[in-house]
Amino acid sequence: MSDKRTVYADNAATTPVTPSVIEAMTPYFGEIWGNPSGLYESGRRAARALHEARETIAVALGCRENEVYFTSGGTEADNWAIKGYARANGERGRHIVASAIEHHAVLNSLKSLEREGFSFDLAVPDENGFISPESVKRLIRHDTVLVCCMAANNEIGTIQPVKEIAVIAHAAGCGFFTDAVQAAGAMKTDVSDIGCDMLSISGHKLGAPKGIGALYIKSGTKIYPLIDGGAQERGMRAGTENVPYAAGLARAVSDAAKAAEDGSEIKRIAAMRDRLAEGLAEIPYTRINGGMENRLPGNLNMSFEYVEGESLMLLLDMAGIAVSAGSACTSRSPRPSHVLKAIGVPDRLIRSSIRFSLGSMNTDDDVDIIIRETTDIVRRLRDLSPEYERLKREGQAL
Ligand code: PLP
Repeated sequence: MSDKRTVYADNAATTPVTPSVIEAMTPYFGEIWGNPSGLYESGRRAARALHEARETIAVALGCRENEVYFTSGGTEADNWAIKGYARANGERGRHIVASAIEHHAVLNSLKSLEREGFSFDLAVPDENGFISPESVKRLIRHDTVLVCCMAANNEIGTIQPVKEIAVIAHAAGCGFFTDAVQAAGAMKTDVSDIGCDMLSISGHKLGAPKGIGALYIKSGTKIYPLIDGGAQERGMRAGTENVPYAAGLARAVSDAAKAAEDGSEIKRIAAMRDRLAEGLAEIPYTRINGGMENRLPGNLNMSFEYVEGESLMLLLDMAGIAVSAGSACTSRSPRPSHVLKAIGVPDRLIRSSIRFSLGSMNTDDDVDIIIRETTDIVRRLRDLSPEYERLKREGQAL
């Protein structure tokens, strides 16, 4: 094995499972392995664990235990919130308003509902990546039943004014759903403070494993199940529950809530991110995508003009640094990022964009390494760029 120092700076794509989460899950892989639907002792122990996990999540999110439903992750929770709510409320109206910078789990759920006669309109963000409540209000029609706006964006980290948007949605008689998959690990996420009817979270963005998430559904919300089968999750989400992962998610969510309360780790991450931004801004022809105010602490999205983001990402990988070119969920797709497009970044700068996302594993040394390697690789790639060569000939290269 190589002893090369590696730097992981793609925490918005996924996070490592923390030791505390592994500890919380371990009993349910061994000793307590029963099916929570079983009425005998081992089943009851598993059911108790599930109940405790749900309670812990409810405390962290500021809701009641019977308002938390486990899912297979953020994608399922988003699909369920949108399709389940739209189908159950379709008699009231068949129109949905969402932000244009939602994750594809939301956008493609909306597209899929078009086949069932629903339609939707997307609120466009300003150039800094924020959705104004007014722009949402303008799109609400008499037949709008649901408004969706993410709590924080996964590509540029911008934190959205979801409290205000919830008020507007409710005043118009609509339900309000927020995807808090990115927000939950990095800031206080309280459903009563936000005032949402539904909120999604995902384990692997906050130190729990991939393949577990949860949907908060405010009691009294009319929603259909997405997955049919047995009576698990109070008849709302069929399938034998993943007890160890539910226990892991509960620990991760409660650890994240404590960190948000304490604030010191979030401050440390934001300070590293700011230093990274300053260091990389020394490279000529760069720009930060998305406003730096009201932004998730670890997120930095930058364009390096005259460089292909993909090449930069690959060379950074060879230098032991993991980052994303665009959003990780779409980085295998050749389409330019819909988020950067929506905030008006020109295509050539979208193609030259990189998302750095720092987390608890990162140190000041990591920041130094990223700055050093990125500066060097950008210079080398520009030396190979005919466009940059022309700029140099014209005496404009800095
Ligand atoms: N929503 C947002 C904002 C995300 O960033 C992601 C994943 O990147 C998802 C939803 C999907 O979550 P999962 O990977 O758990 O399906």
